[in-house]
Amino acid sequence: MFVIENRISELRKRMSSLNVETFLVSKPENIRYLSGFTGGSDAKLLITPQDKYIISDSRYREQIVRESPGWCPVEEKNYDNSQLALLTANFSNMGFESQSISYDTFKLMEVDLKSQLLPLTDMVEKDRIIKDQDELEFIKKAAQIGDNVFTDMIDQIKPGMSEKKIANEIAYLLRERGCEKEAFDSIVVAGENAALPHGKPGNRLIADGDMITMDFGGFYQGYLADMTRTVAVGKVSTDLYDKYMAVLEAQELGISLVKAGIRCKDLDKAVRDRLKLLGLDDFFLHSTGHGVGLEVHEQPTVSAKSEAVLISGMVVTIEPGIYIKGWGGIRIEDTVIVKDDGCEVLTRSDKAILKI
Ligand code: ZN
Ligand code: ZN
Repeated sequence: MFVIENRISELRKRMSSLNVETFLVSKPENIRYLSGFTGGSDAKLLITPQDKYIISDSRYREQIVRESPGWCPVEEKNYDNSQLALLTANFSNMGFESQSISYDTFKLMEVDLKSQLLPLTDMVEKDRIIKDQDELEFIKKAAQIGDNVFTDMIDQIKPGMSEKKIANEIAYLLRERGCEKEAFDSIVVAGENAALPHGKPGNRLIADGDMITMDFGGFYQGYLADMTRTVAVGKVSTDLYDKYMAVLEAQELGISLVKAGIRCKDLDKAVRDRLKLLGLDDFFLHSTGHGVGLEVHEQPTVSAKSEAVLISGMVVTIEPGIYIKGWGGIRIEDTVIVKDDGCEVLTRSDKAILKI
C-alpha cells in the first residue's frame, strides 16, 4: 500500500507541475503499476487531486476489491464515458496517455467530456524507469526461471526437432516453472533462419551443424527478464566458433561498462566499435539493449541515439548480435541491474559456446 501511495503522490506532483487537474491512465502496465489491478486492458484509472478511481465493468467487481484496496471502483457500461464525464465535470482539464488512446476513443471523449483534453506522454513511465526492491526481486525471479528453462531445453533439443516445437516447449516450461506466461513470443531460429533477428519459429527441423538462437522470457508477478543464447548442434565450424567468440567479447565488454553515470549512446558505441574491430559491425542490425520491467521494451534504450544516462536501479539488457544472410546469426543477451559501481548480471546461463 505504501508503495502504491508513493507512486500516486509522485504522479500527482508531476500533474500539478504541469497544471493538469485530472489524469486518465489507460496503458495496462501503468494501471498495474499504479493500482495493482491486473485487468488493465478493460479498465482506466482516473486520478484527481483528492481521489482515485478505477473505471471498469461489472466483470471485474470482485477483482478490483481484491487487488486494489483504497481505490474507488466505478462501473461504466459499454465504456460510454458516462461515468468519466460525471467524475471530471468539475475540473477544467484532463490529461490522457496519448500513446495508448485510439483516435476513435479520443474523438468520443472530445464529444462526451467538458474538460479540456491534454495529450501527455511518459507521465508514469518516468517513475517506472528506476525499479524498487520488490520490482528487482520479481525481475530476478523471472531471470532465474529463464535460466532454468534454458538448462532444461539444452537437455531436450535434438536433431529432427522443429523450431516451433522448441518454442512451444519453452512456453510450457516458463509456465510450469512459475511464470504467469511468456513475456513475448519466443524467438527460436535455426541455421540460416538465425539471420533474422526477430524471426518466427517455423517448421524447419534442427540438423547437425546448425546454430540455434533462442530469445525468450516470462512474466513473474507482472515483471519480466529477457535472455538470448545461441547454441550449436553437433560439430562447431571454426567460422561459427570465431564469430561466436567475437560477439561474446563485445557482449562482455558491454556488461563490463554498465555502471551508473555512463551514457547509453557511449555504451552502444563501445559495443559497436568492438564489433567493428573484429570486422562484424556491418552485421549488427539493432541497438545494444533496452530497459525491461513491466514491458519488454521500456526506457532507457541503449542505442546510438539515446541521450539517457544509466542510474542505479535501472534494469537493462545487453544484447549485441550479428545477422548474415544465407549464413545465420548469433545473439547473446543478458538482463542486468545497474549499480553505482557496475552491474548485477541476472541472467546466469553459460555463455561459453554450448554444443548440443
Ligand atoms: Zn530478448
Ligand atoms: Zn531484448
